[in-house]
Amino acid sequence: MSKKTSGKRPTGKKTAAVTHPCKKCTGRCCRYFALPIDTPQEWDDFDDIRWYLSHEDVTVFVEKGDWYLNVKNTCRYLCPKDFRCRNYELRPHICRKYNTGTCDLMGDEYDHEMHFLDDRQMEEYMRIKFGPRVFEKLEPKKRKKSKTKKILQKRS
Ligand code: SF4
Ligand code: SF4
Repeated sequence: MSKKTSGKRPTGKKTAAVTHPCKKCTGRCCRYFALPIDTPQEWDDFDDIRWYLSHEDVTVFVEKGDWYLNVKNTCRYLCPKDFRCRNYELRPHICRKYNTGTCDLMGDEYDHEMHFLDDRQMEEYMRIKFGPRVFEKLEPKKRKKSKTKKILQKRS
């Protein structure tokens, strides 16, 4: 299955058929959105993604070679009581074209090649990709002890 993205987005619950899968679902597809992002190439690109991942409830995944920013944030129109869409008539197109055939409840497992859950995981990936010392350039430079101080210490 594909995670819902701006290209494949969830809809809310459809008609209230007794056997409809949305009837037994808590609205999984309305609890996040995922947006395609540029495939990172350079160190700076990966560092930007590391910044995204420093934020709570944000993950980044790769599916079929494409990178996505995933924001876990529930739609304001998802009713917390019956998990139905409170904006059904005016719901956006992306919700309308999403279907239960490949949705979060009914589809197969995600076929992510990679899924970064936080910035620490991205740091590990960057160390593997760019070398174990890649973050040294960000560390504050150690102060050189002044020669004067050394001379004074010798005299005392
Ligand atoms: S508008 Fe409705 S169907 Fe679309 S994400 Fe929100 S609750 Fe779900
Ligand atoms: S995840 Fe699937 S079953 Fe659940 S509300 Fe969305 S479309 Fe319906």
